[in-house]
Amino acid sequence: MDGTDPQKPGDEAPPGTPGSGENLCRRCGGSGKIGAETCPDCSGTGKVTTGVGGG
Ligand SMILES: [Zn+2]
Repeated sequence: MDGTDPQKPGDEAPPGTPGSGENLCRRCGGSGKIGAETCPDCSGTGKVTTGVGGG
């Protein structure tokens, strides 16, 4: 089981969770960085896994 993304602090659901999907990280706006720092929420990927259908 390699090649899977580790869960990131900004993720709301574990990878592979039914009903979840990747979305742009709201903290960094998808850039993966906040200023010169790597975004802690998405670990620099610019994307986080969030549940779908929730508020
Ligand atoms: Zn981010």
